[in-house]
Amino acid sequence: MRNERTVRRSQSITPFGVGAVIDILGESFVAEDISRWRGRRELLQAPRIAAHFGVEELRTPPAADVRGSGLPYFRFPQWLFCGRCRRMTRWSVKQEEPGKAAGCSACHGHPQLVPMRFVSVCGNGHLDDVNWVRWAHSDPARREQRQCGRSNELKFEHVKGVGGGLESVRVRCECGASRSLKDLPAPDSMKRLGITCRGRQPWQFDAEAEKCAHTPVVLQRGASSVYFSRLGSAIDIPPESNWSVWGGAASRIRNNDNFRLMESDPEHPLLGSLIDMVAEQEDVSTGQVRAVLEDRLGVKLAEPVEDVSIGDIETREWVALTRPAAAHDPRDNFISKETPFPHPAGHDELQPVADEISRLVDQVVLVSRLREVRVLQGFQRHTMDRVVPPDLGKGERFLPAIEVFGEGVFLSFNEKALADWEAGGEVRGRATTLRSRLAGSMHARWLDAEVTPRFLMLHTLAHVLMRAMAFEAGYSSSSLRERLYCSTGAEAKAGILIYTAAGDSEGTMGGLARLGEADRLLPIITSALVASDWCSLDPVCRESRAQGIDGLSLAACHACSLASETSCVYGNVLLDRMMLVDPGHGFFSDCLGALLDVQGHEVDDAPPA
Ligand SMILES: [Zn+2]
Ligand SMILES: [Zn+2]
Ligand SMILES: [Zn+2]
Ligand SMILES: [Zn+2]
Ligand SMILES: [Zn+2]
Repeated sequence: MRNERTVRRSQSITPFGVGAVIDILGESFVAEDISRWRGRRELLQAPRIAAHFGVEELRTPPAADVRGSGLPYFRFPQWLFCGRCRRMTRWSVKQEEPGKAAGCSACHGHPQLVPMRFVSVCGNGHLDDVNWVRWAHSDPARREQRQCGRSNELKFEHVKGVGGGLESVRVRCECGASRSLKDLPAPDSMKRLGITCRGRQPWQFDAEAEKCAHTPVVLQRGASSVYFSRLGSAIDIPPESNWSVWGGAASRIRNNDNFRLMESDPEHPLLGSLIDMVAEQEDVSTGQVRAVLEDRLGVKLAEPVEDVSIGDIETREWVALTRPAAAHDPRDNFISKETPFPHPAGHDELQPVADEISRLVDQVVLVSRLREVRVLQGFQRHTMDRVVPPDLGKGERFLPAIEVFGEGVFLSFNEKALADWEAGGEVRGRATTLRSRLAGSMHARWLDAEVTPRFLMLHTLAHVLMRAMAFEAGYSSSSLRERLYCSTGAEAKAGILIYTAAGDSEGTMGGLARLGEADRLLPIITSALVASDWCSLDPVCRESRAQGIDGLSLAACHACSLASETSCVYGNVLLDRMMLVDPGHGFFSDCLGALLDVQGHEVDDAPPA
């Protein structure tokens, strides 16, 4: 049952988080829930972020390389077959030997068994083996097929002469009953057999099952709708990201009894003496004690834990990004500084373009260090009717999470310029089209986006910028990520953070923040705009009224606007490059016009050949 195959810790949140079905070296497993975790689950220091996700704590998955601990993965499907003798085996936990693949007991040399390709899922998130015994005895066209009482004597056979599709494979019982897999993936195949959902995950006992009214459907186990992870992400920002708060001395100070006394009673008449006592006991300066106390009280007064909502976390990050601190400790987890744009020394022949862009861009902030916390909130399957929590046990008070470190470039946009642009009928119409398509799509269940003109503009710009950074600066496109800050109304926001955040390591490849320096940013923005004005699939792409899943994008395709799967928070939809570059209504149409003028002059000025 439990196999410590190699899964990196960073992968244990995604793509191999709780409930995911994973293939490793020809074997197939499903990741068990956190109540089954063994070994040390290290506390991840991020109280504000934990509170945001509604738990007391975040904990990292146990390291997978320690014997006797690690992440439990359960062999699934449990139905396997032998490629040599075609016998099917319903594998049991008792047959499992640590680190060993399942082998055929009937064949010489015990060749490795192959997992069945199909599984049964329901919209409530349950997962099960296909009931192969029932299937073998269910061919409606064959009278002799009744339940025969034998339960484990099946063969998975090829049928010759009927082509290569599912009709060419069948499950046969010793009694002679058999049925091909041709109708198995039909949406009502289980319903026709009267099979209902067993209401559990493969690793759970029957006693842990819950009532479920859904009819399961059969899918290939590698199909994308077998598993959707629900991931949350937050960036560690001041004051918690400050070394003075999270660092070693600070945590000693926080745990001092006299410090706790001050925390619980900030009006304490002997506050001054208490600070002196803590400083002496912990061998720190009184200034450090004061700083930690101010941070603690500031946190408590400003952020009662119960009030933290999704909007707040985005707003807090926005505030942290748009108002960089004047000074930083090099050990801080969030280090940012604003950089002038355009470059004060000018941009030579590109100056007219820089001037146009600077009318639209409000701020450029370089984030030379950031810490991102990624949280697994749960998972969904099939029609995504419910989010299954990562804990199916007695009520763990934590969520699994990992931290990654990186750096980034943040751009915010001029609110007045945006508001004027958003008043245009064409951009509103395009946004309305996509908004109503999203409302009618299953993807509305996880795509957390208010589809406005500025959202489409920011999202598409983030994509073309990531593509330009990958192209111009040699970043691997999957190492870049987007983060949008977007809202309208009283607390209007419009910003993009492009960042890298890699693995468990401290740093990244370096240099992304430097790309935000005024002299390097302009060529990147201009090349992104040029690229988004011309797609190799134009004019089809440019004029398209529906691209992507459920038509959730307009002018955007893989040749011009799509990003790597790991870079995009929104499933590579809700994109429309006409929001950027359309000569009539693109947000950047004047910039592009200036750029074409400049390039035109370059051609004019060129010496005759
Ligand atoms: Zn065999
Ligand atoms: Zn039979
Ligand atoms: Zn179910
Ligand atoms: Zn295109
Ligand atoms: Zn995206």
